[in-house]
Amino acid sequence: MVYTMLLYLALVVFGIGLLFKVAGWFRFNIGIYDPSLTVSVRIRAAIQGILSVIFSPKLATLIKVLVADVLFQNHLRRQDTLRWVMHMLIFAGFTFLFFMHALDKIIITSLFEKYYLALNPFLLVSGSMVLAGIAIAAYRRFILKVPRLKTNAMDAYVLIILAVILISGIAMELTKLSSYEHYQIFWDIHFLACMVGLAYLPFSKFLHVFTTPLSLLANAVMDANSHPANVKTRQIMELDACLHCTNCSKRCSVAAASDIIGNSNILPSERIAVLKEYVAYKEIGARGFAALQEGISLCTNCDRCTVICPAGINLRDLWFNAREEVLQREHAAPLVLTPFSFYRGLKRQEMTSDQYKQPLSNAVKDLTAPFERFSTGEVVPLGPQNSEFKKTAVLSGGTVTYAYCFTCENCSTVCPVVGNYEAPQQALDLLPHQIIRSLGFGLKDAALGARMLWYCLTCYQCQEHCPQGVKVTDIFYELKNLAVVEANQSSAQNGSESAAR
Ligand code: SF4
Ligand code: SF4
Ligand code: SF4
Ligand code: SF4
Repeated sequence: MVYTMLLYLALVVFGIGLLFKVAGWFRFNIGIYDPSLTVSVRIRAAIQGILSVIFSPKLATLIKVLVADVLFQNHLRRQDTLRWVMHMLIFAGFTFLFFMHALDKIIITSLFEKYYLALNPFLLVSGSMVLAGIAIAAYRRFILKVPRLKTNAMDAYVLIILAVILISGIAMELTKLSSYEHYQIFWDIHFLACMVGLAYLPFSKFLHVFTTPLSLLANAVMDANSHPANVKTRQIMELDACLHCTNCSKRCSVAAASDIIGNSNILPSERIAVLKEYVAYKEIGARGFAALQEGISLCTNCDRCTVICPAGINLRDLWFNAREEVLQREHAAPLVLTPFSFYRGLKRQEMTSDQYKQPLSNAVKDLTAPFERFSTGEVVPLGPQNSEFKKTAVLSGGTVTYAYCFTCENCSTVCPVVGNYEAPQQALDLLPHQIIRSLGFGLKDAALGARMLWYCLTCYQCQEHCPQGVKVTDIFYELKNLAVVEANQSSAQNGSESAAR
């Protein structure tokens, strides 16, 4: 009676957990938000997508991936033989145990009356296979210490639950004929561990047993013509498909930055876990957010992680969407003005004009906020002059040339950014020649706070046309660096003030 109740309890928790997870795949969004892709649209598109694959030539691809990558895990074998052996031992052993043991009353004993032997060698062999797999996993993590193979709490729980299930199961089989008392103790432990594992499955790494094959299959049949609703759903589902194998982190081209800065979110395998929380609107804290933002901003879109991921997760698109999610939801820190801007420009057609512009204007707003800006037509006061600023602004030899400017306005005349606006001063605050003169006067706020500085394309036209040899573009570059440092200091100060409050 107690056992039956425990079984039903575990099944209920398992069912609710699974339902909750699957509902999340259709509820949450990552990246550019499209209000037309409601939950019902996404569910309908998923059903239609599945049916259209089943009744099309893509079914052959699906079967091929199912056999090669899901059943025989060929993608793993090509990368690392030891890992493949480990995975196959656990996978094959557990599959056998599930059908021949956990479901024996439903499947096997109904087919073979005399199946239940006094001492079942099949169970011992499959149990030992899983145990050998777990031993290899522990060896890799704790003895071999594969570089960047991080072990989080979830990995440890899964290994412990599996080990308890297996060891108690083997002990049960071995004591079956010799001691009923011991057999019963091991049976209780075994049963309880199985129930804990079953209830915990949807919330743990165990879930990848379902989600990794789903991710592999979905990525094999989806392409650029797939319904955008299905792309959204797949991307959220992929967050649950990660096995935390850390393959991606071993090959990440910016992984070294994680060792130096000490931010584990730079590693893709660690970032994905935080991202999962962030996408589901769970609280990750100011520090967690800063770490996540730093991680996704330093990513170079090199794609090395995507090609190596054994779960078939399209990590390149995931990182792009993660950055877009952060940009659309929060005020962008100066860090967003990274090589990502270029990649984002390439994806411009996928967003509305407002979605594209908003984060960039937020970034400019954040960067110029610490400085007092002048409105059009206002007489710029010449004082107080900041001679200290003049000294610090001259970071390299070339930038001292601002002193040679005689305000001929050539730089502003040739500037394509200035030429782009009907009323440039309204849009840009100050024109290039005015920034150079502000620097000459030591007007820090004017030089660092002008939007022109942030709209500059670094085309070098101004510098090439300056009759006085003023290194206009180089000066702008250094002013921008100074402004970023000041903006960061000011946001850090605001942060500590609000924390103190
Ligand atoms: S795309 Fe980004 S996360 Fe992936 S390997 Fe390259 S730098 Fe690392
Ligand atoms: S994202 Fe892929 S490669 Fe990286 S840890 Fe997860 S499953 Fe492994
Ligand atoms: S072109 Fe040179 S000299 Fe003329 S305003 Fe610009 S910086 Fe000054
Ligand atoms: S480098 Fe910047 S300021 Fe100079 S011409 Fe080009 S866009 Fe204008």
